[in-house]
Parts: sequence; structure tokens; C-alpha cells
Amino acid sequence: MEWKKNQEAQVEITGVTAQGAGVGRLEGLAVFVPLTAPGDVVRIKLLKVAKNYAWAKVTELLAPSPLRQEPDCPQFAQCGGCCYRHITYQGELELKAQRVRDALVRIGGFPQLPLAPILGAESRSGYRNKALLPLGRGKDGQLTLGFYAVNSHRVVDCPRCLLQPKEFDLAMEAFRRWAAQYGDPIYDETSHTGVLRRLYLRKGFRTGEVLACVVANAPRLRHEKELVEAFREQVPGLASVVLNVHRDKTNVALGKECRTLWGKDAIEDQLCGLTFRLSPLSFYQVNRDQAERLYEKAAEYAALTGAEFLLDLYCGTGTIGLSMANRAKKLLGVEVIPQAVENARENARANGISNASFLCGDAAQAAAELEARGERPQVVILDPPRKGCSPELVRTVAAMAPQRVVYVSCDPATLARDLKLFAQLGYPPVEATPVDMFPGTAHVETVCLLKRGEHHG
Ligand code: SAH
Repeated sequence: MEWKKNQEAQVEITGVTAQGAGVGRLEGLAVFVPLTAPGDVVRIKLLKVAKNYAWAKVTELLAPSPLRQEPDCPQFAQCGGCCYRHITYQGELELKAQRVRDALVRIGGFPQLPLAPILGAESRSGYRNKALLPLGRGKDGQLTLGFYAVNSHRVVDCPRCLLQPKEFDLAMEAFRRWAAQYGDPIYDETSHTGVLRRLYLRKGFRTGEVLACVVANAPRLRHEKELVEAFREQVPGLASVVLNVHRDKTNVALGKECRTLWGKDAIEDQLCGLTFRLSPLSFYQVNRDQAERLYEKAAEYAALTGAEFLLDLYCGTGTIGLSMANRAKKLLGVEVIPQAVENARENARANGISNASFLCGDAAQAAAELEARGERPQVVILDPPRKGCSPELVRTVAAMAPQRVVYVSCDPATLARDLKLFAQLGYPPVEATPVDMFPGTAHVETVCLLKRGEHHG
């Protein structure tokens, strides 16, 4: 059958894409239908038809899936932040666990690998401790501040967001007030003109400290004093106001240079009983409570006895390794962002941890040098960004011959790919646990234990 744009059809939704759109099948065609749920029967209109897939929109919900619920956010259908607010939390968790299982089977080739139950969150709202809100201009030239629409750089104006704490809603309000009266011109990414690029907010959930940071295509703002006042008047817990100077013509969210306009250079938070200092440019787990669950699982997989050399690659501010340092003989962390490495060192010191050191550099290169020098960690933690590890790094880690590798991953597809290579090199996966770090959104985290020479799958 030949399918064409604008054609209508009836389809049953049977799965979801990695971005959370529903998937159904028409004859010879996979069809992606945003805002549907597995189990829905829908009438659709085809919007775009390619060789073996199509995008469509719902014209009528014929029979709703039992996974459905009424979305609790008025921006849900426009905003690209969440994709599961029309699905029950239980349903969302099942879909996320299924996504991890599918990747491990289809990409990794591990149908027998035991997958522990997904660790769900207590709350689907108010958990984000960081927001990087893009700014734009609406049809009438007015400021829009919120989130990008799905697959687009159009900013959907959001007065508030359910994922974030109320302090962020208030900071957005304060920023809008300031921008209306004193704001520099809004940045335009096509012409690379204008100044105000993003509003970046972070909160230490345990300390209550809030950072408000404006990302600007300029070394200074015209009314910095008024900006500080606006935030101070309206944001409880405000501890730091920062200007991030970002003059590059890229999609990268933050520039490399920060100037503190008011308060501290870095806020603090507590995690796993330790205090962490967080510079604006340093990575920090977005969901603090779930990060503790993730780290507990990672510690269980690491099974440290006190005698081990622990290597923490992609360590950020050192959080994972430092949370286990008292159970290891020594800890070495590797991280590419200099400010994060500085934070990691300060964090070790501030928490009285004396068996930890940190290296600034590329994980693959640093690991290769350590391996060549004869360093032999017994446990290696890997927590790479979405693109996963390079084959060289996987080979280097295997060459160091650790007893255990604990792989923390934010992308099941690259995890499964890397596990396959690890398995070929004598490090098969023995168990994986999905963790829901980002309720409501499409993201899912997985922690996986690999052991030398044990076979499974
Ligand atoms: N383990 C930390 C951070 C994980 S996020 C935590 O749980 O908080 C991934 C980290 O890898 C980020 O801090 C990022 O800056 C860092 N990173 C990205 N590419 C890297 C590379 N090539 N080498 C080393 N670190 C890298």
C-alpha cells in the first residue's frame, strides 16, 4: 500500500520511541504519533511520509489506553520538556524499563541479562534542581521564556514548570520583570545578535541555596544592579547571582566564563551524607533524591571492601566516587571540565576525605596513560555523557583488568553498544538496574555491573 501525506487511517499504538512519541504500525510503515500511549486506538492524519516510517497526529482518540491519565500541566502538548504527563507514573516506569530491556536485547544481544526492577521516584514534580531556560521572542516581539517545543528551537512560554521547585518559577517571574523594564535585547540565534540567551537556575535541595545565572552574549549587562535586586526581592534562598558570558555561535547552553554579580561563586548541596560545592559550570545530578538511589545501587555493584583502588571516570564534581571513598583504599577521579575538577578536590577536602585525588583531562586519554603506567584499579566506574564510551576507552578499561566495572548510563542505546564490546573483551554484564532520574520526561538512567570473566546473556 502506498501511503501519502494528509491521508487518514486508524492505528493501534503498541510502543514508544526513545523520545516518548507513540509508535503504531500501518501496512509496511512504522508510524510515530506524539502524545499517544501504548494501548490507544486512534484515528490519525499522516503529516510526513518517508520510505518505511511516517509521522502523524491524532485526529480522534477512538479507544484510550488504560495507561492514560489527564495531563496535569497546561503547557504539556506544546512544551518539549515532558512527554509522559498523559500516562500514569506506573505506566511511565514500565515503558522506561522496557526501553532499557529492548536496547540490551536488540543492540547488546543480552536476552538473558537480569534486569532488576526500575527504581521509581517518590515524586513526579518539583524534582529538578537545575533549569536552563531558553529565551525567545513571540509573534509580537514579546519575551518568551520556558522550554523548546519538541524537535524545534521555538521557545514555548511557560509561566511555571511542574518539574522545578517554586523558587525557579519565582526567579523566572523576577527575570521577566527585570527584562521588561531594564533588559538588554533578546539574543537571536540565527543572526547571532542581541544579548540575553538563557536563564540558568540551580538549587541545592538540602541546603535551600539558589543560583540565578543569566547567560549573555556580552561581557556585561546594562542593568546588573537592578537584576540582582529583582532576584533578591523575589527568590527565597537566593545565594548567588552570576553572569555567564557566552559569545560563541553554538547551541551549547553555557559559555566558559562566569562572573559573580552577587553572593557566592558556588552554591552547596548535600548528597549521600557529604557536602558538595557546585560551580555554575560543574555537572550535578539533576534529581538529588534519585541520585542517592542511583549511587546506592552503584555502591552495591562496586562491592568495595576497603582494599580497592577505585577509578571514577567522568567523575564531574566527584560525587559518585566520594560517596564510596570510605569503603575504598584510594580513589582517583577523572573529569574534563576544570571547574568541576576543582570542585571535586574541594569536595574531598571539605568532607575530610584524604584518600582521593582528581585528574583533569579526557577520560579515554587519561585512562590510557594510567594503564600504560601500570595502574591497576580493582573497580572502575564509568558515567559518560549520552554518546557513551569510545571503543578505545572500553579496550583500555579491559586492559587494566579490574574485577568489576560499574557503568552508569543516561542512554540505553550507547550503553548496550558499549556492553557488547566489553563482553567481547571478557567483561560480560551480570545485572542492570534502570533508575528513573527524570520522571515525566523521556530520559532513563541505567546502572550496570560488569564482572571479569563471568558469563551471562
Ligand atoms: N559522575 C558524575 C558526572 C556524570 S556526567 C556525577 O554523577 O555527578 C558526565 C561528566 O562527564 C560531566 O561532568 C562531563 O563534564 C564529563 N565529561 C564529558 N566528556 C568527558 C571526557 N571526554 N572526559 C572526561 N570527562 C568528560
